[in-house]
Amino acid sequence: MSIQIEGIRKSFGKTRVLHDIGLDIPSGQLVGLLGPSGSGKTTLLRIIAGLEQADGGRIGFNGTDVTGLHARERKVGFVFQHYALFRHMTVFDNIAFGLSIKPRKERPSAAEIRQKVGNLLEMVQLSHLADRFPSQLSGGQRQRIALARALAVEPQVLLLDEPFGALDAQVRKDLRRWLRRLHDELHFTSVFVTHDQEEALDVSDQVVVMSQGRIEQIGSPNTVWQHPASRFVLEFLGEVN
Ligand code: ADP
Repeated sequence: MSIQIEGIRKSFGKTRVLHDIGLDIPSGQLVGLLGPSGSGKTTLLRIIAGLEQADGGRIGFNGTDVTGLHARERKVGFVFQHYALFRHMTVFDNIAFGLSIKPRKERPSAAEIRQKVGNLLEMVQLSHLADRFPSQLSGGQRQRIALARALAVEPQVLLLDEPFGALDAQVRKDLRRWLRRLHDELHFTSVFVTHDQEEALDVSDQVVVMSQGRIEQIGSPNTVWQHPASRFVLEFLGEVN
């Protein structure tokens, strides 16, 4: 699913947080929204998701205007840094949740759900933890389950907000590889928010560098790294977390 973002503007009170954002995301790309805290990344992601309405501009999915549609109708998947799994449900039930609340007409049978959740657990190599509860998992395992849960409903667009933010460096690195692998196997389109330059450059097909509600540069990780379009990009990429 390709995503068209045209002329998106957003203010909170008197503060303009997004200025005329335009961006085309081809189907199947993994795009990193990179920028310092407060640059508007999360607000843009929420507007793409339909969790927040823009003051002006248009969002399209595959060329169809979805600007007025809410998140559920846009059929996107989410992974958030603090989007906790349901504590009282097993890993299996967490992943099955999105399928079991589908409208009756679209709801798979119990056997189909078992099969599907089984496949997802295999993909994130956590089949052996199906009966555990979230409190019995490590942070990295939890985010792998959160990825599997988001993918259970086969979204064509997956949106991730600092999905690995709370984890330590090695686990973050592993999870990046997981995201990349799932992305390549399942062919969805992903947009993920990060303030971590290394993360964005490592895993994205395209990096979108934001500052103060504006796009500073859009390009492949190589281009952005080797040819920063502005002093801001140069200095931001130079910062070490
Ligand atoms: P980032 O994700 O890059 O850290 P955000 O999109 O979260 O940036 O925030 C951009 C700006 O908008 C910040 O100044 C933030 O304080 C402000 N902001 C975000 N959400 C709200 C809100 N619901 N109400 C008021 N201000 C907000």
